[in-house]
Amino acid sequence: MAAIEMKNIVKQYGDGFPAVNDVSLDIADGEFMILVGPSGCGKSTLLRMIVGLEDITSGDMLIGGKRVNDLAPRDRNLSMVFQNYALYPHMTVYENIAFPLRLSKTPDDEVRRRVTEASDVLELKDHLERKPANLSGGQRQRVAMGRAIVRQAEAFLFDEPLSNLDAKLRGQMRTEISRLQRRLGITTVYVTHDQTEAMTLGDRVCVLRKGKIQQVASPRELYEQP
Ligand code: ADP
Ligand code: ADP
Repeated sequence: MAAIEMKNIVKQYGDGFPAVNDVSLDIADGEFMILVGPSGCGKSTLLRMIVGLEDITSGDMLIGGKRVNDLAPRDRNLSMVFQNYALYPHMTVYENIAFPLRLSKTPDDEVRRRVTEASDVLELKDHLERKPANLSGGQRQRVAMGRAIVRQAEAFLFDEPLSNLDAKLRGQMRTEISRLQRRLGITTVYVTHDQTEAMTLGDRVCVLRKGKIQQVASPRELYEQP
């Protein structure tokens, strides 16, 4: 069974040309799927429909085999990792990671257990009392991913997470994301327009054009084409 299954997904804003036009795509459990394509091809819209931030005009979205078209984001158990990480500057690393559990009123001892576990995996154990301002870019990225891990999210979703960074930091973060994703084996959907990111991160790359899938292939197949 695919982790995320999309069947004939359409998104129509107003009465214009559909932003996403009959997209069918299965994303396997643990797979790292890249969405690429020119600006305006529908990448963000597709990602936002997966996470539930955007209504689906027609078609079926299945997550873990369950139809989620009408489920709110918080009932989908997916986790969007935003470009600026959306960390709370006044909270410590511990409280930032614990935040989704506080929202869902998880008991304190359970919060402690899960945050400890996540910070272990993420190598943030020695930084739990720090504030985000005192972390490196890579550490902030890990805190943001920590929030997804404590919720035991079924997938990570990224929308051009590295596009505002300089080349050096981008390289470091790419390595960081790749390493963590392999280690955790969490299904990942990642929007980018950067070829290097698509090549180095993706198990498969889905190329979108004018709201339609043009091609789905491994990075190697894609870039070895004439
Ligand atoms: P990409 O992420 O590939 O750049 P988007 O998904 O942002 O593309 O946009 C796809 C198309 O949908 C574009 O034509 C865009 O102008 C349109 N669009 C995106 N969001 C909205 C919106 N909230 N209202 C109306 N049109 C939108
Ligand atoms: P902030 O984004 O917290 O306001 P600054 O923009 O002043 O911080 O940048 C401080 C350091 O953090 C710089 O080295 C910068 O390269 C890095 N940085 C800024 N934004 C990001 C980001 N989105 N992801 C990773 N590192 C970032």
